[in-house]
Amino acid sequence: MADVYTMGVDLGSTASKCIILKNGAETVGSAVIPSGAGTSGPDRALAAALASAGLTRADIAAVTATGYGRESLDGADWSVSELSCHALGAARECPGVMTVIDIGGQDAKVLTLSAEGRLENFIMNDKCAAGTGRFLDVMARVLETEADKLEALDAAAEGIVPISSTCTVFAESEVISQLSRRAPIPDIVAGIHRSVAVRTASLARRAGVHEPVLMTGGVARNGGVVRALERELGVSIGVPPAPQLCGALGAAIYGWNKLNKNKS
Ligand code: ADP
Repeated sequence: MADVYTMGVDLGSTASKCIILKNGAETVGSAVIPSGAGTSGPDRALAAALASAGLTRADIAAVTATGYGRESLDGADWSVSELSCHALGAARECPGVMTVIDIGGQDAKVLTLSAEGRLENFIMNDKCAAGTGRFLDVMARVLETEADKLEALDAAAEGIVPISSTCTVFAESEVISQLSRRAPIPDIVAGIHRSVAVRTASLARRAGVHEPVLMTGGVARNGGVVRALERELGVSIGVPPAPQLCGALGAAIYGWNKLNKNKS
């Protein structure tokens, strides 16, 4: 039988992600472009994923869109909520996972799953930048660095500079004032990570935290945040090899499941 390729596209607020699965199982192509919905990011992510798989659009049996901008993808066969896709992707990455903590560019969500991998409950912060990737991006800019350098800075911390403001704008002023007092940058970064962890932990506790716990989304690429959250919650947290692609993975699985359901 010929191989069947399904594509999942996650049009996030901050980044566009795309995965191509062969026969619903093997990832043969993927791409993460740091530009979100409403930009050229989704088209570039599609093109880059196809190129990495050595395929063309005509080889793809079904395209499933998810994420904040999912309705804007031309030619998608299905458009599915990111909650369902994150649940599907997380259950594939970590069978038996009970709690998924996803922190993206502009929101943070906590999903609880049944033992069979079904989405049971979720709680979301999409009202406030604090506790999201945006908060970390803003702080990285003030520190004249990039979000992907924060983990290494945190690892060099010898103490933690407390960041007490829960508002991104006030926290930014706090960081600027700590810099002018010559506080060590690694210790400020550790304080920023703890602040994100404290907010995320309170969201997670409201949803209920049951192990195994998995963290997904672009912010899970920052091990400093993952470890700060482990300390806040007192649990160990797994991170899949490509946490930012988890929603796209779920979308590609959804497409595969739909094709097979339609066949039977
Ligand atoms: P969305 O789906 O909302 O677009 P993502 O899940 O793609 O969001 O996450 C985007 C966020 O991930 C960015 O705001 C950034 O802070 C963070 N991020 C992306 N790549 C890295 C990295 N290599 N290290 C640390 N943080 C990262």
